[in-house]
Amino acid sequence: ERERLARLRFTPSLTMDGQRVELLANIEQPSDGAAAVRAGAVGVGLFRTEFLFMGRSGNLPGEEEQYRAYCEVISSMHGMPVTIRTLDVGADKPLDKAQPKDYYLNPALGLRAIRWSLADPVMFRTQLRAILRAAVHGPVKLLFPMLAHRSEIEQTLAQLRQAQAELDMRGLVYGKVKLGAMIEIPAAALTVRSFLKYFDFLSIGTNDLIQYTLAIDRADEAVAHLYDPMHPAVLRLVAEVIAAANAAGKEVCVCGEMAGDLSMTRLLLGLGLRSFSMHPAQILAVKQEILRADSCKLAPWANEVLDSDTPAQMMLP
Ligand code: PEP
Ligand code: MG
Repeated sequence: ERERLARLRFTPSLTMDGQRVELLANIEQPSDGAAAVRAGAVGVGLFRTEFLFMGRSGNLPGEEEQYRAYCEVISSMHGMPVTIRTLDVGADKPLDKAQPKDYYLNPALGLRAIRWSLADPVMFRTQLRAILRAAVHGPVKLLFPMLAHRSEIEQTLAQLRQAQAELDMRGLVYGKVKLGAMIEIPAAALTVRSFLKYFDFLSIGTNDLIQYTLAIDRADEAVAHLYDPMHPAVLRLVAEVIAAANAAGKEVCVCGEMAGDLSMTRLLLGLGLRSFSMHPAQILAVKQEILRADSCKLAPWANEVLDSDTPAQMMLP
């Protein structure tokens, strides 16, 4: 089976009715780029930069170290797009493992991701400058995690402008980047139209979207059986975001675990998704599902699934 999948590496990712589907890799280390290319990814859909920052007991990577890390990924992707997400520490990704998790009242609802970055603008702009400078060397898409409020969007974009001004002042060159928002808080999914006004692309983080929609801690074993990607509330939010982005002619990707879950591939295709980002190990298996799928038949079926209370697995087309 593995050999059969390996042969699909250079097969274009098209549905039976000829719809092109983009398969991207999620990576956590700069050196993961090579594995993404080997797996047949056509770009990096999510570079989780927090892994550069974690486990260093407070000594954070500076602009030059980050710049080199981002350049390494960009060069390993040979001109394919690289989506770099700004820091997402806090909650399930503690900056310092020595810090007890219960130090925070409720880490998943607390200071994490963009909230953390906006609370430490000097650190945030250091990362932004490193990413902007690296973008000279290849196509970079800049992605912000956990946005929910318009004020956060505006502050984030203001920090970006300030980072650019700082580079101008130092006479350093930097590249043009596309701007994207993670949609991973139900409030963001429900107000997706305002995100579309500010951003070039959206990336749906289903890991957190499920956690916050169902009030299930994604890391808590005691409630893991209730962590259900097929819950109708989750599916409706995912469907609305995809539909809104498609209607606005903007790119939308799913980069949570759902994108690499073979039992979800056809449903996501039916909902109109044409870009999936996942662990490189999943890419060829998902491609096989896509090659066997007929998106014309899947669309009406996906709409039935959305309107029904019957679990999607029981309604296969
Ligand atoms: C997500 O929340 O689905 C996601 C892709 O981000 P992370 O798993 O890093 O929180
Ligand atoms: Mg997330």
